[in-house]
Parts: sequence; C-alpha cells; structure tokens
Amino acid sequence: MCGHRPPIAYPVAMDTTTPNPPVALVIHGGAGVIERDRLGADDEREIRAGLDAALDAGQAVLVRGGSALDAVEAAVRALEDSPRFNAGHGAVYDAEGRHELDASVMEGHTRRAGAVAGVTTIRNPVSLARAVMEHSPHVMLIGAGAEAFADTRDDIAREPNAYFDTPHRRAELEQAQARERADADAAENLKGKYFGTVGAVALDAQGHIATATSTGGMTNKRWGRVGDTPLVGAGTWADGRCGVSGTGWGEFFIRCAVAHDIAARVAYRGDSLQAAAEAVILDAVPGLGGDGGAIALDRDGNIAMVFNTSGMYRGWVRPDGSRGTAIFGEA
Ligand code: ASP
Repeated sequence: MCGHRPPIAYPVAMDTTTPNPPVALVIHGGAGVIERDRLGADDEREIRAGLDAALDAGQAVLVRGGSALDAVEAAVRALEDSPRFNAGHGAVYDAEGRHELDASVMEGHTRRAGAVAGVTTIRNPVSLARAVMEHSPHVMLIGAGAEAFADTRDDIAREPNAYFDTPHRRAELEQAQARERADADAAENLKGKYFGTVGAVALDAQGHIATATSTGGMTNKRWGRVGDTPLVGAGTWADGRCGVSGTGWGEFFIRCAVAHDIAARVAYRGDSLQAAAEAVILDAVPGLGGDGGAIALDRDGNIAMVFNTSGMYRGWVRPDGSRGTAIFGEA
C-alpha cells in the first residue's frame, strides 16, 4: 500500500529574512562651552571627521560580530589618536606643563572593569585600562605603578610625554594660568572650561554592552588630581541593561556618581534611559553647581545624549544602521 508521504523539508542554508541582531554605538568627544560662531568651518570639519573615524572603527568591529568591548576600545583609540580631543595626543596640560592621562573600561554582562590614572607615557590609555582588567588582579592602577604594569606588556605602545603636546592645548594652559594670576577666584570656577574628553558605549550582536572613557583631565590641574573618567560609577559604567560615559566638570561627576546613578534609575525605578540621563545631567549635576554631559545606550539599542553645556561633540550608530554626528543642540 502506498501511503501519502509528506514533502521532504530540506534545510535552508541561510535565512535571509531574519535580520542580524541589532548593534549600536554612541560616542562623545567632550562637552563644554562650544560657541557656534567661534567654531571655524575647518575646526568643525576636523572634529566631525574625528568622530566619523571613531564611529567607523567601532562599527567595523560590531558589524563583523565583534564584541562591544573591542568596539569601544577601537572607537576610543581613534579619538585618543586625534589631536582634536582631550585624550591621548591632544590631551590638556597640567600645571607643570605636562600631561597626566586617565581612562577606564567596563564590560556590562561580566561587570569586569579596568582603569588607569595619572599615566604619562601611554599612547592609548584605554588599552592599558583594558589590560588592567584582563591581565591583572586589580581594577585600577595609578601613576608609577600603572607605568610599571605597562612595562610588563608588549602590546602597550609608549611615547615620550611631549608626544601628547599640541599648540592649542598649550595656549589654553597659558590662558588658564594668566586668569589665575589675575584672579585666584576665577581659577576656582571651572564651569565649561574643559572639553574634549572622549567616550564610547556599544551594544554587540550578543546583546552585551561595554563602555570606555579617556581623558587628559582638566587644564592646569595640580597635585595628582584625578577626575571622574577613570572612576567606575562616576565617569564610566556598564551593566546588563545599559552603559554610560560622562564628560564634564569631574569633581561634580564624582560627587553625583553620574554614570552609576543613570544606570541605577533605569534598574531600580524602571526609568527610560533618556529620563534617567536627563534627571542626572539636567538636575542633579547642575543642582550641585557642576556641568557637563553623558552618553548612554541600553540593551534595546536606545541611545541618550544629554548635556547642560552649549555643546557636546557626539556621534551614533543606531540599531537600524542610521548614523550621524552632532555638536550643538541639534538631534
Ligand atoms: N570629566 C573630565 C575630568 O574631569 C573632563 C572632561 O570631561 O572634559 O577629568
């Protein structure tokens, strides 16, 4: 007897109807007083080109299925290598006319973190922060100890401190020191007198989030000053839900635990990422007298870019692949 056989189902080699898991990336190149009429067309072009190069570097990692951690490191290294931003080459000067650099990374799904502060010969501090996370038992190394740790690693490029010099940052130091000589009180008010710190948050195809932040700190800083950038929870945060990178007057970002507070509002209150970022950046930080901005990204690919200064250099790649850069209050 001849039964009715169901049609044979051949395995489908590739399902082209299922989209790739969404990936996303958001970066910043610092918040601060950026005046539209004083930013020349050439400056703007170079800054946008720097942001685009960082987006290219991070996006390339994500679209080939790489990790969020690799993506944020790649994006931040590109920004550190550009003289236009206050991180790596182009970092601000401290009061002694040298550069002391801070950076951190955090991986959300493992909650691993690494940070360095006050390093002086590390070409890409973000990569040393990652090495601390992956190859030491510690989270944060500072100054001479961080340099000694770097000595143990072949993969960490070194430079003389003068490599970080740029004429425009030298001019900023001279202006800050002249202001300080003229009026000691003015030197205490650092509102808006910084910008160019860099950061990135990425969501990879596995649904993992990572954050990285890197800076030269604030012009004319003294006494081994460390800001929020290398402090996990202040300038950088990542967990299973979202990642945050901050930029602004670091003392206030530390006192407000900015990056963790944004993530905690999402976790404990169920706030949207945008609402959480606005509460912290538009209320908490200025409420204490500080200023600055933050970028944030959640596991659904939502992006928030919030600042209470006149501008924040920023760029993004959304889960739908749309991409852009912005400086002032435009979208
Ligand atoms: N937050 C950095 C610091 O205080 C400065 C900046 O964001 O530009 O070191």
